[in-house]
Amino acid sequence: MLQAKTALITGSTSGIGQAIATRLAKAGANVVINGFGDANEIEEYRASLESEFGIKAMYSGADMTKVDAIEAMMAEVKSTLGPVDILVNNAGVQHVSPVEDFPVEKWDLIIALNLSSAFHTTRLALPDMKEKGWGRIINTASAHALVASPYKSAYVAAKHGIAGFTKTVALEGATFGVRCNAICPGYVFTPLVEGQIADTAKARGMSEQDVKEKVLLAAQPTKEFVTPEQVGEFAHFLCTPAADQVNGALMQMDGGWVAQ
Ligand code: NAD
Repeated sequence: MLQAKTALITGSTSGIGQAIATRLAKAGANVVINGFGDANEIEEYRASLESEFGIKAMYSGADMTKVDAIEAMMAEVKSTLGPVDILVNNAGVQHVSPVEDFPVEKWDLIIALNLSSAFHTTRLALPDMKEKGWGRIINTASAHALVASPYKSAYVAAKHGIAGFTKTVALEGATFGVRCNAICPGYVFTPLVEGQIADTAKARGMSEQDVKEKVLLAAQPTKEFVTPEQVGEFAHFLCTPAADQVNGALMQMDGGWVAQ
């Protein structure tokens, strides 16, 4: 159980991050949720975590592409809930375009959010983790941390970068009780993907089932999506004593995608 631990999950107002935050709260951790969205919905979610699991939950709307906002968030978390014990670097976005047309501002955004934000939260959380002799850093990477797809250059570069960063932090924290691992999901069924299915079906005149199997899950041998809840369970496992010797691992959850 994770009672009295503070877990910060970036990008947790929706999708995978939200499922991880819910799972860690269920295990007793106080949680910090972060991300954008409708203020009322976010507050409803935050309050539901407190009432359902009897933990403390705070919200930070820090823009994870901004170093000063990340620094302010880390200081606010420390003074409100105590130092971060479990850090989940999850916030991320995608943009699809050939390299030669890739908008420079999209490249900069994706590198800042999907890669550099993890460096900043980690550098700020590590000293307290080392001092306490316990810390868990979990990076939501992707199958794209291990293999590429065309037109996703910034995303693939950032996720490969996260893979290298994960291994480095794992080595630096190893004798201090700090563990750093990456979860590498294939396609996860989030509201974002759900929307893509309907849009693609309309645009291509295909059935939604065909879009799922022939377009989105073309690379995923099981032809099934990962669920956000499964990623939440995986993240929780990484915080349990059973995972004490899991360190620097890039853990695939992709129905066999990168086994091919
Ligand atoms: P999502 O769009 O549902 O959630 C993204 C979260 O990040 C939201 O809470 C959003 O508000 C937040 N966010 C966006 N920009 C931000 C910013 N500048 N500052 C702070 N928060 C910001 O997406 P998701 O599918 O749950 O993705 C979460 C992570 O999982 C990402 O890193 C993504 O690359 C990774 N991932 C997703 C899939 C998938 O198929 N959905 C697969 C592999 C990896």
